Amino acid sequence: MKKRHKLVVANWKMNPQTLEEAKKVYGAIKKKVTQYKNVDVWMCVPYIYMSELKKVDRKKILPLGAQNVYLETAGAFTGEIGPVMLREIGVTVSIIGHSERRALGESDNDINKKITLSLKEGLRVVVCIGEKERDVEGEYLAFIKEQLKSALQGVEKKELERVTIAYEPVWAIGKSDTEAMKGKDVHEMAIFIRKALSDLYSPEDVLNMRILYGGSVSSLNTADIVGEGHVDGLLVGRQSLFAPGFLEIISLVNSL
Ligand code: PGA
Repeated sequence: MKKRHKLVVANWKMNPQTLEEAKKVYGAIKKKVTQYKNVDVWMCVPYIYMSELKKVDRKKILPLGAQNVYLETAGAFTGEIGPVMLREIGVTVSIIGHSERRALGESDNDINKKITLSLKEGLRVVVCIGEKERDVEGEYLAFIKEQLKSALQGVEKKELERVTIAYEPVWAIGKSDTEAMKGKDVHEMAIFIRKALSDLYSPEDVLNMRILYGGSVSSLNTADIVGEGHVDGLLVGRQSLFAPGFLEIISLVNSL
């Protein structure tokens, strides 16, 4: 079996506050990242910084990503950015369905439309799923399965190579690194998610799909989450805004 290449995705959210700081962090990551051959690194940044960050990385070392995309291509949609606009500016990937967007009112149906349209327009997608809370009866497992099913409705087999799943339990996002999920629990979810994907398609069809974990990742819990959790990489929020810490995470994933 071909080993899946590891992946670390940065999610800057609505940060940093200045273009100057954005360029500084991006430049520092770009400078060092090429030494880590066993891991892909994608940078999902605010739209407003994209053009300038492309100038920081003229050799296109770091694939540039968005954190959201609209569900239509063009038209009267005030304030929105569509997948063709992203593609044309050089963006290759978008996070879709992050829990912070779902909390703003994005529905499963919206998320499905965003995913299918982005794939049609040639982008890669990082699809976020995750339960808000856990219950002893294990209802959250059915919830995760449903989120996956709804997100991937209409996605064709041949498009799956451009789909990455990021499992982000909402209760573990934005906490301290000791509150992130433990590796052994991450492993359980990684198995569950791959099984659910296999049921939707076939085990062979989803063999190369990467499953990431996200939620309070730092260099202190990376080895446990990726090593014991057997995920294909990480979606990193706050720590991706701090170049030395983010590079340390990349270096650890590279060596695992
Ligand atoms: P965090 O964010 O690493 O700051 O917890 C992760 C995310 O929301 O993608």
